[in-house]
Amino acid sequence: MSAAVTTAEAEVFDVIVIGGGPAGYPAAIRAAQNKLKAACIDEWKNFDGSYAFGGTCLNAGCIPSKALLESSELYHRAREEFAVHGIKASGIELDLAAMQKRRASIVKMMTGGITALLKANGVKAYQGHGRLLAADQVELTGPDGAKTVLKTKHVILASGSVPVQLKSVPHDGKFIVDSWNALEFDAVPQRLGVIGAGVIGLELGSVWRRLGSTVTVLEATDQFLPMADQAVAREAQHHFKKLGLDIKLGAKVSSAAVSGGAVSVSYADAQGEHQLTVDKLVVAVGRRPFTEGLIAAGVGVALDARGFIAVDEHCRSSVPNVWAVGDVVRGPMLAHKGKEEGVMVADLIAGLYGEVNYKTIPSVIYTAPEIAWVGLTEEQVKASGRAYKVGSFPFTASGRARAMEASIGFTKLIAAVDDDEILGVHIIGPMAGELIGEAVLAMEYSASTEDIQRTIHAHPTLSEGLHEAALAADKRAIDAINR
Ligand code: FAD
Ligand code: AMP
Repeated sequence: MSAAVTTAEAEVFDVIVIGGGPAGYPAAIRAAQNKLKAACIDEWKNFDGSYAFGGTCLNAGCIPSKALLESSELYHRAREEFAVHGIKASGIELDLAAMQKRRASIVKMMTGGITALLKANGVKAYQGHGRLLAADQVELTGPDGAKTVLKTKHVILASGSVPVQLKSVPHDGKFIVDSWNALEFDAVPQRLGVIGAGVIGLELGSVWRRLGSTVTVLEATDQFLPMADQAVAREAQHHFKKLGLDIKLGAKVSSAAVSGGAVSVSYADAQGEHQLTVDKLVVAVGRRPFTEGLIAAGVGVALDARGFIAVDEHCRSSVPNVWAVGDVVRGPMLAHKGKEEGVMVADLIAGLYGEVNYKTIPSVIYTAPEIAWVGLTEEQVKASGRAYKVGSFPFTASGRARAMEASIGFTKLIAAVDDDEILGVHIIGPMAGELIGEAVLAMEYSASTEDIQRTIHAHPTLSEGLHEAALAADKRAIDAINR
């Protein structure tokens, strides 16, 4: 229902943020911390019809996926790995309803936390749809359809992204689904198909494989994890195979159809055409920027050729005082990248210093083994022509990893020969996503390999892997044979 009357509120905001995901809500909070009069508008609605701040990340992405990855990993380890620790466990059973209830309650707690943070910081939080009418005007459509025009000095667009759908693979929300639906299955599918071996496809495939599904992942490209260092990609492929993920590379899905309570998937690879029958099919072929209904005609905010809002390195759009951050602008679609952009813009609007170092954005894949990296891959450094050195340290040589029964994978450091600068760090193994933080900080400070070599790392910890990898780059590793 939409009300015909449009009213204007008397107050003028300094900043209105449209979108309350991990890019938008930090922008609003930082703006308020900077003593700016800030509002945040968000329209996210959950399957039960309730509004919630936090965007994709908290409601349907980072947080629920990590909750299920943790639970399914524990289930898997209890069944497969307790015996080696001398723990006899019998009668281990899956209670998926309880697992899903835990996932939902974590999401609720976290999204409720955002509402509380907005309030505590003095941000005016609106639930409803925001539309940019002009550089200084935003139309708010509330849950009851009533429209209000809000006046503002600056607008930050943070409308995020939505899953890409394949035309010939129509979603029905039940059998052919997106990543959000796949986080909320109420039964373990016997046969699960996943289109796309990207981060989301691998994480979701891992969850359901550990909980008992037979999982087939169909990936159009021939190369596995092309964005990762290829030594890491090879190691990951080996472990995913051991887990039982059937990853078919060079397998391009052409169509899928539901019939008789199952999904028939057609795909082609070098051998020809194939059919695969699964009980559920998850389409995880990437995400696209979401700008539908966001900008009124004639405002002049330019989009690029791929539909992202065009911005400069400081997230300024083509219209003065209109900014855009997060998944709706270029760069990796990651929550922490959006957060830093949101904070940068809120600081710039307040006349403070603000910058995002796009060279040190970490990437993490929360599978087992976990994968994390920052900076350049060896392939990228090689292609750049700069002379480089590599140091690697396997977790088999780590006392802590051995004690954890988690001694798979390695830490790899790539550094420049000329000035010893660290160019990239790649970790596959236990807690890689936590360990990469040290490398991010080192690179943020333009650290050299020698800086890491001379930094004391507690023993026994997994972080010694980075220390030893730095030593290995100069053939001075202590706890592994230098090659
Ligand atoms: P979003 O989170 O998409 O938020 C945008 C918000 O704006 C939404 O609430 C939307 O409803 C609202 N909105 C849009 N238009 C309007 C409008 N006109 N008016 C009002 N509100 C509007 N990233 C990581 O860094 N780590 C991870 O582990 C990770 N895991 C993921 C797992 C999955 C399954 C998925 C799908 C994604 C994952 N991501 C992860 C990606 C991450 O979720 C996104 O990068 C992040 O959410 C982008 O933040 P954002 O604020 O730009 O957009
Ligand atoms: P990401 O963008 O990292 O989420 O990964 C999505 C993956 O889906 C990419 O690796 C694409 O190659 C893959 N993909 C896209 N379309 C298809 C398709 N029709 N069949 C199989 N894989 C696809």
